[in-house]
Amino acid sequence: MKIDELEIENDFFRFDSSFYELVKATPLKEPRLISFSKSACDLIGLDYSECEKKEFIDFLNGKKLLKNSTPYATVYAGHQFGHFVAQLGDGRAINLGILNGYHLQTKGSGVTRYSRQGDGRAILRSSIREYLLSEAMQGLNIPTTRALAIISSKTEVSRDWKLESCAIVLRLSPSFIRVGTFEYFARTKDAKNNILKLADLLIEQVYKDLKDKDNKYELMFFELVDRSAKLLALWQSYGFCHGVLNTDNFSVAGLTIDYGPYAFMDYFEHDYICNHTDYEGRYSYKNQPYIARWNLLVLADSLTEICNYENLKNYMKNFLPIFEKEFLSFMSKRVGLDCNKSADSNFTLIFELQNALQSSKIDYNYFFYCLTNLKSFSNINEILEFCKNPTALKSWFSKYEKVCLEQNSSFDARLEIMKKVNPKYILKNYIIEEAIKKAQNNDFSLVNDLLKIAQNPFDEHKDFERYSKPTPQQFSNIKLSCLS
Ligand code: AMP
Ligand code: MG
Repeated sequence: MKIDELEIENDFFRFDSSFYELVKATPLKEPRLISFSKSACDLIGLDYSECEKKEFIDFLNGKKLLKNSTPYATVYAGHQFGHFVAQLGDGRAINLGILNGYHLQTKGSGVTRYSRQGDGRAILRSSIREYLLSEAMQGLNIPTTRALAIISSKTEVSRDWKLESCAIVLRLSPSFIRVGTFEYFARTKDAKNNILKLADLLIEQVYKDLKDKDNKYELMFFELVDRSAKLLALWQSYGFCHGVLNTDNFSVAGLTIDYGPYAFMDYFEHDYICNHTDYEGRYSYKNQPYIARWNLLVLADSLTEICNYENLKNYMKNFLPIFEKEFLSFMSKRVGLDCNKSADSNFTLIFELQNALQSSKIDYNYFFYCLTNLKSFSNINEILEFCKNPTALKSWFSKYEKVCLEQNSSFDARLEIMKKVNPKYILKNYIIEEAIKKAQNNDFSLVNDLLKIAQNPFDEHKDFERYSKPTPQQFSNIKLSCLS
């Protein structure tokens, strides 16, 4: 469809106007299109050729509204690093309404009622990071909000005493509701009624099959617990660290949302903390599943007016077992084994693999790619040569060989399993950093090349072979600032 044919629906104006602000975007100066995602266009039925037009830039920049679009910002609350903040909200994101079941949101469009001291802007580097990772997670089949396009501009804001140029990413998601949204609604005067309406909206957006069920609110919570446990199992399997898992950054649709100082671990480290302001490691790699469980318990608290709290708490007992089962099952696939065959020996093997990877300091995801392509156990030196200290991994390989024999698993059978889950490419931070540097000099080519790699990480990308290799030592497992 042409951009002028797209017609917006709205679902948030059923709430009292104290829950949102009708707001106009403050356009950026001299906007330029950096990139757009064809596969995200497909979600809303937008012709690719439309994205080359000036109208498309105007649309991202908030100068052009689609038919029926009434932009608004929503309020939420949240626990930030464990501390409750009574009022947060879309401080720099503006919602444009719904197309084909996807809510559209521009991030970095200027101040809203919820900006507090902020400038309502998003800088180029953080916008590129969000844009690329949204599409990369989709490429890895990890549930995520999506990104349609990104624009740059001549507008500048100050971050860390430096001027940085601003950008806007247009995000898409079936729902942008967070645990923090429920926390806010649960503390309002007419809490029961407001929470009921919010839960109904979430069911409409995400859990449609539950609409006519008797205990739909509890079932909705149960399904979110399942989805979150599965999501966390995927994060942990790929070594993805979110960095700021505050309840306001935790989706109630079971999606990865709000990309900030995230990282794919370069080498395996249980204690890895990617966010350099996370002094105590609350959001370290090893803590993520427990934090997700904590966030869901906060949600359970907010649902007490409309659910039986004991039922929710009881169901939460399933979170870690589901997470562990999913993690074990996915990790078994990453080493080419069938989890249903022998869960116990797989469990030991995976547990020992993590320890071996930690002490060997081989590039984490590169290891799995090499394993996928291993043709014989006599060739393991091809992998061990990438280890700083190969001893533990070498002895792991002899256990792995034994388990493979026990399970009657051939190299060919394992290849079939592994090639679907072990990508050749992972968008690690040092790679994205190169694209950011170029983009800061108005060269957007690498952002677009990385988009293709992100969306097809299992394919060959001949010109970018070097990005499939281990992360150079000096860029490995560094901490990132929250600069946003
Ligand atoms: P975040 O750390 O990005 O999840 O944001 C936490 C809260 O701060 C949310 O309510 C955001 O809307 C708000 N916020 C973050 N950056 C800005 C900004 N530059 N201007 C206004 N509000 C912001
Ligand atoms: Mg956020």
